[in-house]
Amino acid sequence: MVAQHRQPDPHDIHVPAWLTFRRLASQALLVASVVFLASGLGILTRPEQQLATFWPTNALLLGLFARRPALASPAGWAAAALGYVAADLLTGTSLPTTLRLTAANLAGVLAGYLLLRHVRHDDRQLRHPLSMLWVLAVSAVAALGASLAGSLGSHAMMRMGFLTASGFWFSAELVSYVALLPVILLAPSPAGAWRELRAALVRARSHPRLLLPLAALALALVLGVAVGGPGAIAFPVPALLWCALAYRLFTTALVTALLCMWTLIAIATGWIDLQLQDASVQPVISLRMGMALLAVAPLTVASVNAARNRLLATLNHAADHDALTGVLNRSAFLRRGLELAEQVQQSGGTVVAMMLDIDHFKSVNDRHGHAAGDAVLRTFAARMRDHLREDGLFGRFGGEEFAVLLPGVDATAACVVAERLRRLASDPIPLEDGRLLDITVSVGVASGPARIAGLEQLLSQADVALYRAKAMGRNRVVA
Ligand code: GH3
Ligand code: MG
Ligand code: MG
Repeated sequence: MVAQHRQPDPHDIHVPAWLTFRRLASQALLVASVVFLASGLGILTRPEQQLATFWPTNALLLGLFARRPALASPAGWAAAALGYVAADLLTGTSLPTTLRLTAANLAGVLAGYLLLRHVRHDDRQLRHPLSMLWVLAVSAVAALGASLAGSLGSHAMMRMGFLTASGFWFSAELVSYVALLPVILLAPSPAGAWRELRAALVRARSHPRLLLPLAALALALVLGVAVGGPGAIAFPVPALLWCALAYRLFTTALVTALLCMWTLIAIATGWIDLQLQDASVQPVISLRMGMALLAVAPLTVASVNAARNRLLATLNHAADHDALTGVLNRSAFLRRGLELAEQVQQSGGTVVAMMLDIDHFKSVNDRHGHAAGDAVLRTFAARMRDHLREDGLFGRFGGEEFAVLLPGVDATAACVVAERLRRLASDPIPLEDGRLLDITVSVGVASGPARIAGLEQLLSQADVALYRAKAMGRNRVVA
């Protein structure tokens, strides 16, 4: 028999039991603390014998489990249950009620989690126009799970019929899931959030009009309080849509969630007077469902807008860059060259143009095939671009011909750079099949004072120098 030797697999590494226990314990502690703190917050908004006005815990827990599935272990679910129970018992809820509420909350999160696991990552990130409808579906399933489990045992305690109690429960859950789930699914890491906040403050200081959508939202909220009535919940819609078109997806999600919280609390406290004659729970159910469905609109607009911006960025990149080598194409090179020349012109500096042409490139294709020729072009372009990255522009003018523009460099320094590029090009180029290929390049250099009007002329001088380099035997720099 032949002994089988295999490479050690990282999965084979033995993890001591105490380390596994420590990891599980810290995950459970995280889940229990989030549930406990969020529930404490929700209980503060809970009137006697009623459901909370705003209950953030379930959406937070579902979002947390969706973002970090490792937390949704049996230990994680048990820790969540413990967090719910502790928060209720410590705030004076009786044990039977606590257990009923906890079971309802967990049933809802579980129902939502089972569906959310099948939703694509892209849709969880609201990257597609219909993604928000997925979030709505998950929210509705989670809300249904909680409302059925919750009202089965307690509609008598809530002094309502089963259908009314489950409608009441469903609407409360739906609005908090729809408002909060996108925020949690999209939330950046703490470091990323801090970076984005600082960038946003800088942008807002230099372009104060970026704050206009938020100002419009504040105005809508004031109008809602002043005018009141059932239409007041729709007052912020135009401002929300403006936010959706002006801000990032996460910011829109955050603004929408805060608006939902504000509206629910403002109505519960009477700041917004809906002027409803009917004192039953029906209008409350209707209002909460209306709020939840309303929140879908700005987030859908924001995700469509984000998808459109990504598409535009891809198209712009494709329009400006050469498909084979990824460097600037001729027209983008010339456009950016003019911008660069304009900047340098203001400080009265010089600019250098170079034309590079690979020597006898046709024979590379002839001897090694077109695919090898393509690989050579890609490697050559990457080498030149990486070497020049900080200094200037690099682009492909066509075939095996490339151009460089360097600002603020004199003729002597330019020749040193060009010589370095020439030597870099002659390092052997590895092909996919392992062969090494040697190429050489000829370089023409021209320098002069930066003038927008003179850019084309400078490039054609470099071209003339390139032809001289070819005529003198190739593989050389001519200024
Ligand atoms: P010289 O030293 O005078 O520059 O000779 P050369 O062979 O490099 O120049 P020539 O202009 O005769 O040939 C350029 C060749 O580049 C011809 C063409 O087949 C090849 N070429 C142009 N674009 C591509 C491309 O995208 N991929 C590949 N593989 N070859 C290309
Ligand atoms: Mg050539
Ligand atoms: Mg050529």
